[in-house]
Amino acid sequence: MHNAEAFIRGLPKAELHMHIEGAIEPELLLKLARRNAISLPWTSPAEIRAAYQFTDLRSFLVLFYEGLKVLRLEEDFYEVTSAYLRRAQSEGVRHAEMFIGPQGFLEQGVRLDDLMNGVLRAMRDGEVAGITSKLLISTHRHRTEAAALDMLEQIDPWLEHITGIGMGGPELGNPPTKFAAYFKACRAKGLRLSIHSGEEGPASYIRESIEVLGVDRIDHGNACMDDPSLVDELRSRAIPLTICPVSNLMTHVVATLEQHSLKAMMDAGLLVTVNSDDPAFFSSYIHDNFMRIKAALNLSVDDIITLARNSFIASYLSEREIAEALAQIDDYVAADRLN
Ligand SMILES: [Zn+2]
Repeated sequence: MHNAEAFIRGLPKAELHMHIEGAIEPELLLKLARRNAISLPWTSPAEIRAAYQFTDLRSFLVLFYEGLKVLRLEEDFYEVTSAYLRRAQSEGVRHAEMFIGPQGFLEQGVRLDDLMNGVLRAMRDGEVAGITSKLLISTHRHRTEAAALDMLEQIDPWLEHITGIGMGGPELGNPPTKFAAYFKACRAKGLRLSIHSGEEGPASYIRESIEVLGVDRIDHGNACMDDPSLVDELRSRAIPLTICPVSNLMTHVVATLEQHSLKAMMDAGLLVTVNSDDPAFFSSYIHDNFMRIKAALNLSVDDIITLARNSFIASYLSEREIAEALAQIDDYVAADRLN
């Protein structure tokens, strides 16, 4: 191996935890604000980047919801989704599973048709260009369960294009059990289930998510390490955790990347993956996440290969597609060792 960074960049991988709303680069944010005549508190990309210094999850969410006001029309959703897919592909991502949360947009008067048509067109174009993707609809946990159920009804005409659902927003005071009926209804529609859990919330929220909601994946899940019996359950059931190292640092879930528990999770046999969460807000796409967590935790290249394999194993791809992706990783690694 001549260059570990180039090897890691090209290593085939999947990204399973990113939010389309969190992929609006400052330049695109300003462009869309101009195009849609929306006034923002910032006038330059540098000012926006300076504003992206968060003190906690809540201060991040305030900016996150401010930023999404610029996405109005089909073309806007197309542009942000396309830009993300192109960037991810340039960093070795062969498959992306992307969240978008329509509730905030619909409240601003955006038409669900425009949102869905823009995102789906970008996904189709991405597929032609060589990156596959799946769409996950996210709802906000600070809203009511009735609002989540209403969202599920509204997306019904689009179900064939939607693989799963997720849930984000402030965890504390909004336990997973608040949404038991919603998750049951989503399961009944054949949707795959995940929820942000154990990011700022306690290990008990992760336990509720798997035992009461029956989720397929946990998004984040950092707090599981506080409860050894929960770690045993996650390991024995091979429930994936979509870890977002730089996001955790930026929203102060961890004080430093050196203190991140990713390596301890791997050593505990957990099915963990590395993801960017909100790449534009954190100025960190998947490759930067891999390089920074590798440096901080002294991960080996074999650890990185394991994480790349995990990303496909934990995906919502079919068994056959997962086997193909793992074979691509084997080929990539073998070709590198020949050099
Ligand atoms: Zn997230």
